[in-house]
Amino acid sequence: MSRVYNFSAGPAVLPEEVLKEAADEMLDYKGSGMSVMEMSHRSKVYDDIIKEAEADLRELMNIPDNYKVLFLQGGASQFFAEVPMNMMKNKKAGYILTGQWAKKAFQEAKIYGEAVELASSADKTFSYIPDCSDLPITDDMDYVYICENNTIYGTKFKTLPNTKGKDLVSDISSCFLSEPIDVSKYAVVYGGVQKNVGPAGVVIAIIREDLITDDVLPGTPTMLKWKTQADNDSLYNTPPCYNIYICGKVFKWIKKMGGLEAMKKHNEAKAKILYDYLDQSKLFKGTVVKEDRSLMNVPFVTGDADLDAKFVKEAAAAGFVNLKGHRTVGGMRASIYNAMPTEGVEKLVAFMKEFEAANS
Ligand SMILES: *Cc1c(COP(=O)(O)O)cnc(C)c1O
Repeated sequence: MSRVYNFSAGPAVLPEEVLKEAADEMLDYKGSGMSVMEMSHRSKVYDDIIKEAEADLRELMNIPDNYKVLFLQGGASQFFAEVPMNMMKNKKAGYILTGQWAKKAFQEAKIYGEAVELASSADKTFSYIPDCSDLPITDDMDYVYICENNTIYGTKFKTLPNTKGKDLVSDISSCFLSEPIDVSKYAVVYGGVQKNVGPAGVVIAIIREDLITDDVLPGTPTMLKWKTQADNDSLYNTPPCYNIYICGKVFKWIKKMGGLEAMKKHNEAKAKILYDYLDQSKLFKGTVVKEDRSLMNVPFVTGDADLDAKFVKEAAAAGFVNLKGHRTVGGMRASIYNAMPTEGVEKLVAFMKEFEAANS
C-alpha cells in the first residue's frame, strides 16, 4: 500500500487513523455482527453513534445550549436554498461576495426574495476580503450572509463583518473545525463535511433555536424545513448513516489531537511553511493579499501557464496529487486541511524548491 499526499480541495484527505479504525470495524461494528452501513438508523447501536457524534462536536466547538446541531443531506449547495426558505421573513437579505460559493448562495437567494450585494471583491478576482466595517445593511434585511473561507480563492475572513445587529449566516465548509470559533456570534454556521470533516454526503448546520420555526416560505419542502429535522434529531428520514459515523471518528481524532486550539496551532505552523517559501520564491507566488490568507487553501502561480502545467504533472508523478488550481484562478492550489500532516507540506516545499532550481 502506498498513500499519496492528497492536496485536493474536496473531497479531501482524512486522518489515516480514522480510515484504519473504520477498516477494522467494517465487518463487525463493536460486536453488532454488521457494518455501520448495514444497520438500521432506528437501532440503539446507531442512535449511540449519532448522539455521541453530536456530543463530541458540541464539546469541540463549545456550542451553546440554545443552538441545534443538524446532520443534513444535499450538500452545502442545497443549504444555499434552505437559508432563504427558513429565514427570509421580509424577503430581503444581504450577501458579501467573496468568491464563487458566496455568489452561488446569492444567486440561489434571489429565487426567494431580494438578495442585496453588500460588498464584493470580484474586481480583483476575489484575492482579498472587502472592508466589512460599515456595510449598507438596512433594517428590513433578515440576515447577512458570508462564505467565511473561500475554498477556490484562498481567502478567509479574519474578523467577522459588522452586521449592525442582523443575524449572521456563515458557510464554513472549508474551515470547519480548523480553529476555534465563537458560535454565539452567528445565527447559523454550516458546512459540507467533505472538505475538512468527513466523507461527502453530510452537511452539518448549527442553528440558533429561535430560527427553527414553522414560519417558513410557502412551498418549502418538508425535508428542507429546519424544524422537521430539529424535531426529529436529524432522523426524520434515513440519514447518511455511515458518513456521520466517520465524522464522529474525526471529531474524536481532533479531541485526541488536543481540540480546536491545538488544531489551529498545527494549521498555522503548517501553512507558514508554505507561505514563507512562497514569499521568498522567485518562481512561485501566492495570489492572495497577506492579511486575508486562508490556513486551509493556498493558491499560487508561476505566471506561466505552461510551467504551471509542468509543475502539476511532475508533482503528481512525485506523489503530490490534486495540486491543479481551480479553472477560474489557474495555477496551483494546495489544500492543507486538518488531516494533511506537516510532513506533507514540508515535502511539498522541498519538491517546489527542486522544481524552482531546475526551472530558473
Ligand atoms: C465545496 C464548497 C461548497 C459546495 O459544497 P457541496 O457540498 O458540493 O454543495 C460550498 N461552499 C464552500 C465554501 C465550499 O468549499
